[in-house]
Amino acid sequence: MVRRLAGLLFLTLAAGIARGQPFLLPTANHALFEKNGEDKFFVGTVGKPWTTGTFGCVRSDGWQMHEGLDIRCLQRDKRGEPTDPVLTTADGTVVYLNTRPSLSNYGNYVVLRHEIEGLEIYSLYAHLREVRHDLKPGQAVRAGEAIAVMGRTANTHEGISKDRAHVHFELNLLVNDRFASWQKKTGPGRRNVHGEWNGQNLLGIDPQRVLVEGREQGARYSLLNFLQRQAELCRVAVRKTDFPWLRRYHALVRPNPAAQKEGVAGYELALNFNGVPFELIPRSAAELKAKAKFQLLSVNEAEYHKNPGRRLIAQKGARWELTSHGLNLLELLTY
Ligand SMILES: [Zn+2]
Repeated sequence: MVRRLAGLLFLTLAAGIARGQPFLLPTANHALFEKNGEDKFFVGTVGKPWTTGTFGCVRSDGWQMHEGLDIRCLQRDKRGEPTDPVLTTADGTVVYLNTRPSLSNYGNYVVLRHEIEGLEIYSLYAHLREVRHDLKPGQAVRAGEAIAVMGRTANTHEGISKDRAHVHFELNLLVNDRFASWQKKTGPGRRNVHGEWNGQNLLGIDPQRVLVEGREQGARYSLLNFLQRQAELCRVAVRKTDFPWLRRYHALVRPNPAAQKEGVAGYELALNFNGVPFELIPRSAAELKAKAKFQLLSVNEAEYHKNPGRRLIAQKGARWELTSHGLNLLELLTY
């Protein structure tokens, strides 16, 4: 009996490990998991420390956002160009390839879709030297599979020097699958060659925290729980009852039986500093009060001062208001 139980326990543990951490590092550089390994893992911007290669409001004294991790290269060819294979972070599907580096400041890049705990997450790998030739949209990939070679492609004027060669790695939530149509409506004449796979339509979460916590917690790790634990920048009310985020990230909706009984007239959203709506509460007309399409309900000033880089809200005298960036995000979210 004891042996049988031990056997069962082993099977359970093995299954747990197999389920394990949801995301893997996208290259062989694992210094992120070493004590004080950060400067072997991150590439900073020119002349700046490694912290500028992490995720968040890490540039221009907090006023500039970096939506991914810049991961240092480990191997180079004779000419000093990077040769590190770039690996998929989880099982998923190829959704977009850009192999014309002049069309993006991401240079050559790949976007994959993953489904974790019913949540759609999109990983993005940028500045690639070369994308695997047989990859095409719709194709399934396995976690840890090589999909590209690290590089330094970008369409920016200053470019990326050999010594700063890195992969820019993001984990994103998708704002709206009607992005292209929204953009045509709001900015006619502006060219969008990347369809919905435009940076504006992808909201990054911190891959460092996801990778480190996932490794520490193994099978117990929950991405949903991570999203629900985001620090709140502000709360807003939107007078819209049907938008794609509600379906795509349904697990983030908190039930409100009173509003559901009376009739839902809109939603109250909690946003983190990067604009990720991580809690959505249905509200009745009586609960919403104001008639405005979008209304700022509350502000967490401490979080704003810590992470102001997205400029979603601003203080006008004693009053806080949504900026054009904030309104723009809400327009796209609810389009
Ligand atoms: Zn970067």
